[in-house]
Amino acid sequence: MSRRGLLIILSSPSGAGKSTLAKRLRRWDETLQFSVSATTRAPREGEADGKDYFFVSVPEFQNQVAQAGMLEHARVFGNYYGSPKAPVQAAIESGRDVLFDIDWQGAQQISNSALQEHVLSIFILPPSIAELHRRLVSRGQDEPDVIEGRMQKSWDEISHWDGYDYVLVNDDLDATEQQLKTIISAERLRRSQQPDLVDHVRMLQSQFGDRT
Ligand code: ADP
Ligand code: 5GP
Repeated sequence: MSRRGLLIILSSPSGAGKSTLAKRLRRWDETLQFSVSATTRAPREGEADGKDYFFVSVPEFQNQVAQAGMLEHARVFGNYYGSPKAPVQAAIESGRDVLFDIDWQGAQQISNSALQEHVLSIFILPPSIAELHRRLVSRGQDEPDVIEGRMQKSWDEISHWDGYDYVLVNDDLDATEQQLKTIISAERLRRSQQPDLVDHVRMLQSQFGDRT
């Protein structure tokens, strides 16, 4: 039976663990299409262009926005980030799910768009602010001033926690991964996600009628 694609949005303050969790979800279900964002920030060590992000210049980014090529876009920590529209539309048309790692501004834009009925939004909270700081430091990929900037902005992001469908506290990584899998598995079974159910029930009805 066919299924309507979900737009699964993960947001959190920087360092709470959403990229780690997104990677685990993609390993769990290879049909899950990751929305590769475009960004004007510089690549971190180990990040691949076209896989983690499309690393673009500010004029390239602005051009894509002007051509209505972004499903959503926002300025985060002084850089531009946006989700290219075409791959998302193609996925939705063929009933595939898309996973987004985006901030609250992007989540809000998609939740208010024509695709809102496909949205499943999940917010990841850290167990504590001290642990959030520890994770940003332990990731070892940002300079101390960048980490400080992200810590200072973390409350901006956390303050939007109540706009999401689900909120998880990412204390134990394996437990949070399991909770995410449970949520996604259940949301895929929602009646609204299974348009072919109507035909199936009609078929059952006609079989039932044949008995009498
Ligand atoms: P985000 O994508 O939200 O900025 P990351 O996924 O990059 O965060 O995680 C930040 C750091 O915290 C990484 O080093 C990651 O391995 C670590 N981390 C993520 N989740 C947990 C967890 N539950 N317990 C301990 N460390 C974690
Ligand atoms: P980072 O620079 O750590 O990869 O990401 C910084 C923040 O930007 C994170 O909160 C991340 O979720 C967000 N982000 C990444 N891509 C996008 C995007 O396409 N749109 C929006 N709105 N935010 C994004």
